[in-house]
Amino acid sequence: MTESTKYLLSEDRLPKAWYNLNADLAVPAPPPLHPGTGQPIGPDDLAPIFPMAVIAQEVTTERWVEIPEPVREVYRLWRPAPLIRARRLEKALGTPAKIYFKYEGVSPAGSHKPNTSVPQAFYNKQEGVKRIATETGAGQWGSSMAFAGSLFGLEVEVFMVKVSYDQKPYRRALMETYGAKCIASPSNLTHAGRAILEKDPNSNGSLGIAISEAVEVAASRDDTKYALGSVLNHVCLHQTIIGEEAMMQMEMADAQPDIVIACTGGGSNFAGLAFPYIRENLKGAKTRVIGVEPASCPTLTKGLYAYDFGDTGKLTPLVKMHTLGATFMPPGSHAGGLRYHGMAPMVSHVKELGLMEARAYHQTECFAAAVQFARAEGIVPAPESSHAVKGAIDEALRCKVEGKAETILFNLSGHGHFDMQAYTDFFAGKLKDNTYQQADLDAALAELPKVG
Ligand SMILES: *Cc1c(COP(=O)(O)O)cnc(C)c1O
Repeated sequence: MTESTKYLLSEDRLPKAWYNLNADLAVPAPPPLHPGTGQPIGPDDLAPIFPMAVIAQEVTTERWVEIPEPVREVYRLWRPAPLIRARRLEKALGTPAKIYFKYEGVSPAGSHKPNTSVPQAFYNKQEGVKRIATETGAGQWGSSMAFAGSLFGLEVEVFMVKVSYDQKPYRRALMETYGAKCIASPSNLTHAGRAILEKDPNSNGSLGIAISEAVEVAASRDDTKYALGSVLNHVCLHQTIIGEEAMMQMEMADAQPDIVIACTGGGSNFAGLAFPYIRENLKGAKTRVIGVEPASCPTLTKGLYAYDFGDTGKLTPLVKMHTLGATFMPPGSHAGGLRYHGMAPMVSHVKELGLMEARAYHQTECFAAAVQFARAEGIVPAPESSHAVKGAIDEALRCKVEGKAETILFNLSGHGHFDMQAYTDFFAGKLKDNTYQQADLDAALAELPKVG
């Protein structure tokens, strides 16, 4: 009998609901606060920038949230996503461990991000919104929002972090193919952007700055709302379709993961795979859950758990999260999607409750892992996803030393076809393991708001 490589679900098994971990935690995550009053914010505070359906999902205490049929219809363009057993990688490593990965690179944009851009576009359209203003780091979120906007007839304007805008011209072309407008951030179109450019005309930009610009545009126009591709509760919620599918597929494989691994930028693909497994852990299962982040922007392993702004311009509500400080400028790296100063409040909360582990790796060791993976399995991982690959390989090698046949499941959050310059730089020996300056981190943390 030949053993299966791919575990595929038929379209009729596409999940009908997203899972909300908040419903199962004994201690709820601390609420977002109004920066002016220090009091918890209400729906009215968010109404200028988000549609009501999204705000309701942000604060819901329901365990299951139904996926609207028009969203499931779009999901079926690429979902259910495959679960793959990495047998060739296991062999190359000589490990007794069994390695499975959930592959989110099959979406039109090449990552997990359309899992949330599609419902966000749907809810905005339903409430009569005409335009979406948003930010993007490496361009994954911008292209995912552009794709969703094109399906639901919304105009999309994307502020793209300058360093990535220069590094990844084809991501911009992809956004334009879907009909979106892409602007390098900081830009001179907003107060927030101009303030940064005055101080530093050569600013590399950051997600925090790009968020300020997009929020400013959304707040100043009635026909425009804002969309965020990570961090917030509703985004983590939408991504749980990954874990819900993976659980059914692991069952098809007659396997249970001992370890679940995902990379963490803002925390959404991690939440998507891990939260359903954390639900089972709360009921007595003992799966280790590991988030892997870049050593150049180590929010979970080096940040403070404190209330902070979501953006550099200090326009957003305060959220309690692991943060490096809203004004912290992470050094440039090729994993643009992991260069955010904070972590999803839900993921941060889960970390504080001791329900997950976190570790940090430098980018060259992640690229080495990604190349090893590509040569065994064929798929070229996104630089962000390479952190999860490195985490999985390290665990598999530990299993080899310890002679243990553990089962490892990781999230391959996207492919790297738009990131080949990073691979070229890696092969040329040009990639540096940039570390931040402790003084910069201390200065950013000293600016944390004094609340909570
Ligand atoms: C954006 C992105 C990430 C990081 O974002 P999370 O919200 O932490 O998931 C990871 N992988 C890929 C491929 C991405 O595009």
